[in-house]
Amino acid sequence: MMSDWYDKDYSDHMNAEYARIRAKHPKLVTVHFECNAGWYPIIERYFDGVAELLEKHPGATFRASQIKEKLGGIRLYSDGSPVLCEPVGKLVREAEIEADRTCEVCGAAGALRVIGVGFYATRCDTHAEGGQLATWQEPTEIAVPGIEARVRIHIPAKKDEDDG
Ligand SMILES: [Zn+2]
Repeated sequence: MMSDWYDKDYSDHMNAEYARIRAKHPKLVTVHFECNAGWYPIIERYFDGVAELLEKHPGATFRASQIKEKLGGIRLYSDGSPVLCEPVGKLVREAEIEADRTCEVCGAAGALRVIGVGFYATRCDTHAEGGQLATWQEPTEIAVPGIEARVRIHIPAKKDEDDG
């Protein structure tokens, strides 16, 4: 998808911010961030939180396995010591809630949108790329204990602006 906000300056900004966060937490940031820079501050706070937990639990291990955007939400996958499971899970949920209301491109206040045909993204008005507001709700009938899932519900705002 061509996006006019993605240029060399933006790419440089992303690389510099990634390098800065990795330098701050060299042992924790061992994967790339598969999302745009608007969410990097959220990821940084997540790693700040993980670092605090590791100070409280010397000997515990943590390994980030994947950090990415999916269906307009943030996904922070890791494995490590069982003692960290619950507190890291709390940090993940905080990050998810924050990302759901933060533009993935610039970090301003954002909302979930459907851009084009079924491309979900959390964006501000400036970076909406013609996308229509959407929302998600917790699943009711398909919930599986222990597995967190979301069902995206597309709510069209205006019918005749599909091609924006
Ligand atoms: Zn934005």
